[in-house]
Amino acid sequence: MTEARRFTGGRIFTGRRFVEALLVEDGRVVSLGSEEEVARASPAGCEGEDLSGGLVAPGLVDAHLHVAEVVRAEQGLPLEGLRAREEIGERLQRWAEMHPAGPIVGRGWSVEGFSDGEEPTRRDIESVVADRPVVLYHVSGHAAIVNGYVLDVVGITAGSPDPPGGRWGRGPDGTPNGRLYERALGAVARFSSGAYPPDPRAIGRTLRSWAALGVTTVGTLNTDPEELEVLATLAKSGDLPVRVRAYLRYARFSEVDFGRRLDAAEGGLLSVRGTKSFADGAFGPRTAWLSQPYADRPDSAGDSTLGAAELAEVVERTVSAGLVPAVHAIGDRALGAVLHAMDGASPAPTPLRVEHAALVPPELYSVLDRVRPALVVQPGFVWSDGWLRARLGPERARFAYPFRTLTERGHLLIGSSDAPYDPVDPWRGLAAAVHRTDPEGRSANPDPGESLSEEQAFQLYTSNAGRGFGEADLGTLEVGARADLVVLDAPDLGRAIDRGRSAVRATWRGGELTYRRERKAGE
Ligand SMILES: [Zn+2]
Repeated sequence: MTEARRFTGGRIFTGRRFVEALLVEDGRVVSLGSEEEVARASPAGCEGEDLSGGLVAPGLVDAHLHVAEVVRAEQGLPLEGLRAREEIGERLQRWAEMHPAGPIVGRGWSVEGFSDGEEPTRRDIESVVADRPVVLYHVSGHAAIVNGYVLDVVGITAGSPDPPGGRWGRGPDGTPNGRLYERALGAVARFSSGAYPPDPRAIGRTLRSWAALGVTTVGTLNTDPEELEVLATLAKSGDLPVRVRAYLRYARFSEVDFGRRLDAAEGGLLSVRGTKSFADGAFGPRTAWLSQPYADRPDSAGDSTLGAAELAEVVERTVSAGLVPAVHAIGDRALGAVLHAMDGASPAPTPLRVEHAALVPPELYSVLDRVRPALVVQPGFVWSDGWLRARLGPERARFAYPFRTLTERGHLLIGSSDAPYDPVDPWRGLAAAVHRTDPEGRSANPDPGESLSEEQAFQLYTSNAGRGFGEADLGTLEVGARADLVVLDAPDLGRAIDRGRSAVRATWRGGELTYRRERKAGE
């Protein structure tokens, strides 16, 4: 007996056109068209879903986030929204009292609220906790501060050289000041993974909360084998409310037996698509690699975290394993280096991926047009990096997040949040891509000429993402596609974007209900 369901009484956006009605059978779209056409195609005993004037769109995809890190950030000490350096000590104090033993791991600080704009050091934490490990990550995850306890355990002294692609912060006399950047963070990763190992219940809960936003698929990057194991267990027990496409941490990808059998066995719920590596850092801690120095720190242009030979090896080894390299490049110089490494690489199963591609000056157009990787962008950063014009200067900031220019040049742009850097909320990204500034008018690049249309913005989070994963039946509602869809309380895409997450009435993944908003009394 097949399970069939007909959606009528509103409008359906398939990803490229609007129709009146949709029929789902066995987890796939089997018919589309007018209400009469779909009624004729429906089998006896078909269930009905009345849209009451609402809108159906393909389920939303967040193609770049970090499942384990989001869950860890939810479990650890929250440091977002600091208004002064002293608040680090205050929050740490309260947390230490509530959690009297074990390492303390926090995340989310940034210097934007600090009057001197200077990053914290070990002194800011040692006055509060000195007798156990403390690791506090910058909101970007590309820098951290630790106390002397951690430095001692790891064995960092004044004489320790910087690791390749990373850096220890130092005081005027050369002693480590507790700041860590980029690949130096590898030395302290064990404290956070030790404090918060991947927990199936916490991961399941977090994924369910994403279904309530209309999300049906995510790409998770930097996946460790332990995290993949937990996701596979959830997929096998049918407890994965959101499809997951994993990109393994490059340094450990050979540990995983990543055969595509996962796809067949779990109904497309989980599969390994590629590897993830980093060519540079981030704008926040000024570790993104630029071709010209930072406007607000003229002695620095950031740095590369992988040399040219290493980048070429990442691309070739990944492709020859039948996977796709996803390489992080935020600064323009890093983007140039990654494109150079990808230029002329052996053919891959799906488009190679550049993560972020945040700064794209016209000098890079010719190599970009030749290599044509998928560009996995974060429209929400247009809002959250409102300080970027100070970092880059107004001339260069015009080339930050140039979504319309890249779309018009025919590039495949894919939307994502990079959570936990930004919240998992595709509605925030949709609004940022269309409106270009946040509701207060702040923006990393407010150029209205870089705005996307509402349809283009949706495509970033639906059909473009499916193409990026090499899955033509994902992110669309044309006949044959997976029945991943979201029912919205809005008559059209524009009003859905304006209403944001509160527009989501129900979410279906593969024809199964993963979320339905509870009705309020009188509704
Ligand atoms: Zn990321």
